[in-house]
Amino acid sequence: MALIQQVVLNSRPRKNGEPVAENFRMEESYLPQDLQEGQVKVCTKFLSVDPYMRCRMNEDTGADYLPPWQVSSVVTGGGLGLVEDSKHQNFQKCDVVTSFNWPWQTRAVVDGAVLTKLDPQLVDGHLSYFLGAVGMPGLTSLLGVREKGHVTPGANQTMVVSGAAGACGMLAGQIGRLEGCSRVVGICGTDQKCQVLVSEIGFDAAINYKKDNVAEKLREYCPAGVDTYFDNVGGDISNTVISQMNPNSHIILCGQISQYNKDVPYPPPLPPPTDAILKERNITRERFLVLNYTEKFDVGVVQLSQWLKEGKLKVRETVVKGLENIGAAFQSMMKGGNIGKQIVLVSDGNKSAQSP
Ligand code: NAP
Repeated sequence: MALIQQVVLNSRPRKNGEPVAENFRMEESYLPQDLQEGQVKVCTKFLSVDPYMRCRMNEDTGADYLPPWQVSSVVTGGGLGLVEDSKHQNFQKCDVVTSFNWPWQTRAVVDGAVLTKLDPQLVDGHLSYFLGAVGMPGLTSLLGVREKGHVTPGANQTMVVSGAAGACGMLAGQIGRLEGCSRVVGICGTDQKCQVLVSEIGFDAAINYKKDNVAEKLREYCPAGVDTYFDNVGGDISNTVISQMNPNSHIILCGQISQYNKDVPYPPPLPPPTDAILKERNITRERFLVLNYTEKFDVGVVQLSQWLKEGKLKVRETVVKGLENIGAAFQSMMKGGNIGKQIVLVSDGNKSAQSP
């Protein structure tokens, strides 16, 4: 029996409360020595913390495709690691594999059916990109823009992205440009993030919503109005952006993180004046869920990988080391502590990560 570390849900946040690191707790456990037919033993390398996990902390997630995490049970989410042993025909030792239901454990024995094999060449060996730019956030940005953005090359469109310095937002702005937008403006929560977006990532301008007058800055940076809005945050920021959107323009309703700690349905209802603007100006605001486009994932991954290799897609990550820090990493990401994709490095292959 091999000793492992794991993270369980310690408690749920209180109603309308922010998640804290103490909502999670570390435990030790043992893995069975022998695998059953169809099982795979994996060593966890990277874990992802994502905003949707806030819903999984509630007893009722509000989404039938998202089961709640159970108190005192091992937490699961997007993860990636290496096969150490396999009794499943599709996997062999040293394969790099991923799953949306990866247990927050240093090592695990899982049903091979939940695993997908990855080709490290797609990310030039930078495996954590499979949880970011060439994984779920990348696909969300790509398919969000393509399915709901109505971006037309040569049409001189202006795109605004909220949550712009995060995993999806940073990619969405770049993809908006690659797909044909002539102007891309980001909204995010610090001056440092604004600087990264403009000087490193290639946004035309960025607005710090915690400091700047968003309405004024939008008028300055989007003189021809907003044609496509990639909305990651909702709330006041989105109401302000929508007020400056052009007739027949489009919202990519990706997420509403400003509302996730509130006990409201998803998507939260818009205030009547904002709703009236949508109707008067014929602005589309269809719900977008990346999981509804699984048949487009393979082609999407190839596209993202190609842009990455060509240097057309710039990637930023915020990496926290150690499974014991995953709760703090989640809390930090929910409060804006990340630039780019928030990743947790569980095992870098050194001895401390090995079982005794
Ligand atoms: P992320 O942007 O990397 O991290 C979350 C960011 O949200 C933080 O860095 C913070 O940045 C910002 N934030 C937190 N509270 C906020 C508030 N009250 N107002 C404005 N911004 C706030 O996370 P992500 O994984 O890329 O997800 C971004 C959005 O996409 C989320 O809404 C998520 O639910 C959604 N999403 C949707 C799908 C889909 O299929 N529709 C898939 C993946 C993700 P600041 O410093 O800028 O505040």
